[in-house]
Amino acid sequence: MLSPEIPVNERIRQQVLDNQELLDTPADPYLDVLVKVVGEMFEVKTVLISLVDRDRQWFKARRGLDVPETPRNISFCGHAILQDDLFLVEDTHLDTRFSDNPIVTNPPFLRFYAGQPLYTESGHAIGTLCLLHPKPKHLSSKQKRRLKDMATLAEGYLKLRHMSEHAKELRAALSREQRKAMLDSLTQVWNRAGLEHFLPREQTRAEERDLKLGLLFCDLDYFKRVNDQHGHDAGDKVLWECARRITAAVRPQDIVTRSGGEEFVVLTQVHDEEELRRIGERIRTSVARTPIEAGEVELELTISVGCALADAQENPERALKRADKALYHAKGNGRNRVEFSAYEGKKTYDALN
Ligand code: GH3
Ligand code: MG
Ligand code: MG
Repeated sequence: MLSPEIPVNERIRQQVLDNQELLDTPADPYLDVLVKVVGEMFEVKTVLISLVDRDRQWFKARRGLDVPETPRNISFCGHAILQDDLFLVEDTHLDTRFSDNPIVTNPPFLRFYAGQPLYTESGHAIGTLCLLHPKPKHLSSKQKRRLKDMATLAEGYLKLRHMSEHAKELRAALSREQRKAMLDSLTQVWNRAGLEHFLPREQTRAEERDLKLGLLFCDLDYFKRVNDQHGHDAGDKVLWECARRITAAVRPQDIVTRSGGEEFVVLTQVHDEEELRRIGERIRTSVARTPIEAGEVELELTISVGCALADAQENPERALKRADKALYHAKGNGRNRVEFSAYEGKKTYDALN
């Protein structure tokens, strides 16, 4: 097997990649849509936006692959970033560089690979948009052009994202190691530790902007049935898709977390109850409106949402408890609905405990 060489400009390339603040960040709904469309366009099992990092490739977006990263020394993308055109292996069995690669001889038994390098503004290849398939495949010249066009879209999006206020704030707030520990590996949104980190911070930020911190406690309805009837893997796919839908239903600066099992907490900055309820409704309909694909089956699911506005005087953990209480009411009142819990001073909180 031929391991990819290290590029001659590796030190700078790595620095440029690190400066993008893309590694170990939550999934992005727009890039998720892009890999989905590309997968359908090329009829391949797997599509990745892969970032070639020190000793691994980490996937900023992935479709048809369940792991967030794989080793660099067996990667195809490591080869793709060494040259400046589409890197194409139409049949791995016919290519001595790859025929004994462990991802060819073992699952996922890769036979076809096409990777278009992705460049930063400075011209450094940080990763690829790539197609992987367990059967050999041929790309026509039109298809090759199309793949390059899609890579151009991904690149353009990454450049704009890099310049955004949101990315700058994230850079200032959290180191990469911190981020890594705060990401949920199943759904690629923030995990419980992320929620705890962002909760007080978002309350302060809301106050600075004369807004209120809104908390939305979202819990899938009858989720246990999905596992029971269709298996745990189908359940995991549903959680992945729900995380995508919730993220797409809220605003880019909102914080989406998976706080546990089939529960998601969203932190948002709003003016009032009405605005918060509207966001809750958007989340609710984003799940209920279209069935969710989970492997072979399409499942009609709903989500219940409890929401609360944190009072300026209130410990945000307490506001979270109130949102949870509202969620309990949403369940009791028939599920697939949004309930709000009003702040009524310290006494109410004491009554909840
Ligand atoms: P309700 O409408 O009252 O919320 O009912 P429910 O079935 O959604 O709630 P319940 O708490 O009874 O079940 C939650 C299930 O979520 C049980 C557990 O097996 C499942 N679960 C928790 N974490 C994961 C996970 O990471 N993957 C999968 N597939 N299932 C999970
Ligand atoms: Mg549930
Ligand atoms: Mg639950």
